[in-house]
Amino acid sequence: MKTYYRLCVLIGLVVAVHSGPISRQTYLKKFYNFTEPSGAASKGRTSHMSVKIAEMQKFFGLEVTGSVDQETLQVMMKPRCGVPDVAQYSTFGEGLKWQKNQLTYRIVNYTPDMSQAEVDEVIEKALQVWARVTPLRFTRINSGEADIMVSFGTGSHGDFYPFDGPDGTLAHAFAPSPGIGGDAHFDDDEFFTFRSTNGYVLFLVAAHEFGHSLGLSHSNDPGALMYPTYSYQDPNTFVLPKDDVDGIQSLYGPNTDVIPDKSNPTPPATPNACDPSLVLDAVSTLRGENIFFKKSFFWRISGSSQSEQHLIKSFWPEAPDNIDAAYENTAQDKVFLIKDQKVWALFGYDLVKGYPKSLSSMGLPTTVKKISAALYDQKTGKTLYFTDNSYYSYDERRKTMDKGYPKLVEQGFPGVSGKITAAFQYRGMTYLFSGTRVIEYSPTSKKVTRVLNNGYFFQAGTSYT
Ligand SMILES: [Zn+2]
Ligand SMILES: [Zn+2]
Repeated sequence: MKTYYRLCVLIGLVVAVHSGPISRQTYLKKFYNFTEPSGAASKGRTSHMSVKIAEMQKFFGLEVTGSVDQETLQVMMKPRCGVPDVAQYSTFGEGLKWQKNQLTYRIVNYTPDMSQAEVDEVIEKALQVWARVTPLRFTRINSGEADIMVSFGTGSHGDFYPFDGPDGTLAHAFAPSPGIGGDAHFDDDEFFTFRSTNGYVLFLVAAHEFGHSLGLSHSNDPGALMYPTYSYQDPNTFVLPKDDVDGIQSLYGPNTDVIPDKSNPTPPATPNACDPSLVLDAVSTLRGENIFFKKSFFWRISGSSQSEQHLIKSFWPEAPDNIDAAYENTAQDKVFLIKDQKVWALFGYDLVKGYPKSLSSMGLPTTVKKISAALYDQKTGKTLYFTDNSYYSYDERRKTMDKGYPKLVEQGFPGVSGKITAAFQYRGMTYLFSGTRVIEYSPTSKKVTRVLNNGYFFQAGTSYT
């Protein structure tokens, strides 16, 4: 029998500290099967490499240029896991799944970073993530050869894939097969934690690796556990996302024992820009790009390239999910996110110190408990805060709230009705989102010029004309 191991490597790089511990060649070799031709063939190297870079850019939804630009480099340096990348959920194939539902696991040794009881609990919890949605059942054994051998090691640790010290590779796992197949190795030069944001949450790393141990490859759904980049989330509220549920059930089928109740929450699905019923949480510009928020995700769209979808936390780990409103104050070069009675300020990829602040610190009366949309008007220097069908106007230059507000939206924007759920200005026009409708309003002619839908902004390569 031909032994065929698929290996997953979880890479975690601290971007600011390690500006380039992994070269682009290494990255492409590892994740895109890039081979460096030698001798006479080396002439073809550049074009072969750009094909691989293009593949990678396509996978991550970046602009496909075939060359490593700043954005591509940023993605390369993100904490990630390293099975070659493919579209949506993906499996290693029917041949690389367990042919039985009763599996054993064994914790061979422990990390000093956490108590043994914590490691035991985390490993059990990470396996239950998969058991909950499949007929797979896991039994722990304490001696002999288990299907899934869990171990911690540093450097060379007995396979052909040595670990590399702190950061870089975090862990790897082998696809189902006898022997080393199914095993998960964790790089003990990392600092693993139970639930803290300092270090890598062992539960999240383990749950991802066990996905590989059971036959899943990487997904390009940014909300999926099997997405190749590591992103912190609270392990106590973790629910396996829909894409991963679909992936594992394509191999093993659903859990027939399950009685639907509140202990089995609905798997979160990643919002889809093509969904005609999509109601955005908030919309803003950010340094010349447009950003659209929904739940824990945002899309960023620049005029000429395809939209990219990301977790909010993967860009701004301390920013909130499910925000109410967002706007960019271009004069201050800041983006403000509003949720309930709090305001966060972003400066590029950084959260501005001293935030979150209270809504009333922005000049709003304390009676205002919730904002539904906000926009900054570059021409007038006013920030408009919408509360459903009325709005306030704040004069950023005079630093005071304008008198005579709140006003009804239709007073300030003749022809606009309904609750305003998101708003922004783009290329001199004001866009007021009301549910799935987008009302285009001309501030110069003071008229509604068009009624559009979200899809208008998500078309790749359009100049929005
Ligand atoms: Zn992985
Ligand atoms: Zn290993």
